[in-house]
Amino acid sequence: MNIDKLIWPGYIAPEKNEIFSSWFIRLCCEHKIKSHSFSKYYLNNIPIWNRDIDLYCPEFLVQKIKEHTILSDIQIRDLFLNSYQDLLFNKNKDRLFTINQLGVIHRKRKLNGLRYCPGCLGEEKIFFRKNWRLSTSLICTKCKLMLLDCCPTCRSPICFYRLETGNKSSLLEFPLNKCWNCKTNLHLEHFKIPANNLLLEYQTYIDNTLNNGYNDKTQYSFQYFYMLISLQKKIITKSHGWSRIKNAAISEFGSIFYNIDFESKDLSLLTNSLLASYLILQKSPLSFSTFCADYNLRSSDFTKDLDNIPFWFIKTFRNSY
Ligand SMILES: [Zn+2]
Ligand SMILES: [Zn+2]
Repeated sequence: MNIDKLIWPGYIAPEKNEIFSSWFIRLCCEHKIKSHSFSKYYLNNIPIWNRDIDLYCPEFLVQKIKEHTILSDIQIRDLFLNSYQDLLFNKNKDRLFTINQLGVIHRKRKLNGLRYCPGCLGEEKIFFRKNWRLSTSLICTKCKLMLLDCCPTCRSPICFYRLETGNKSSLLEFPLNKCWNCKTNLHLEHFKIPANNLLLEYQTYIDNTLNNGYNDKTQYSFQYFYMLISLQKKIITKSHGWSRIKNAAISEFGSIFYNIDFESKDLSLLTNSLLASYLILQKSPLSFSTFCADYNLRSSDFTKDLDNIPFWFIKTFRNSY
């Protein structure tokens, strides 16, 4: 550690797997000032909340944190979603499909891009995890609970930093595990929905793929996620012309889609379509060809709209015929 550094007086270390915005608001809280003032005094007034700060980690911010904390460059960059580069996504545009968007309009959020586990938010240390922004995160494997993507009471997106709005004297009158809008406790017992075994199996596989950077299908995890999400998109498509994968998934996994509204874009549709997408890919290599033959699926059904088809998937298809 460089002892010449001017460490911020209220410095606290980020928690394991904590996302930048969560650490930042806790840091401001520790300094007993609002985030706006923190930025003004310590960060040359850079805007924080009118953009997706966790996604677009500004270099200036990284340098400032490096100058005033004991965190290393790697530890700082690890707070941001770009740290999933080459694990979850490779090209920048693919980031948009694997990381949930917030729909930022000024300081407001229009989309339910941040999920949370009601179990984790009920723990003593309250903070938001980085993987709660991922479209592939459906459950918490630690608590074995379903993640939620909005306040169960008023349906508002999760915007914990808005808890400081309007409270002139105190930074956070409420803890981070309350809904900023209606002040519901997000960790109440009746919000905890146990995850079933299939979801546990799915999430364990996904988390291992992400942690290892590879899985049994491919040596590049981002190529797996690319196919997983592209299949999911084909399952929730509204196109009548290209609905063969959707129809095959509904026939094959009927119980998963029971009572699911395909017209909505809510979390249950996203969850179940992703689960079906996972199950289709799990058929490779042993029963993939049977699945394709049963529903008369062709290579073009899978690869339509893809600008690059990962070799592992080409191989899967080739070996099926
Ligand atoms: Zn949890
Ligand atoms: Zn609410």
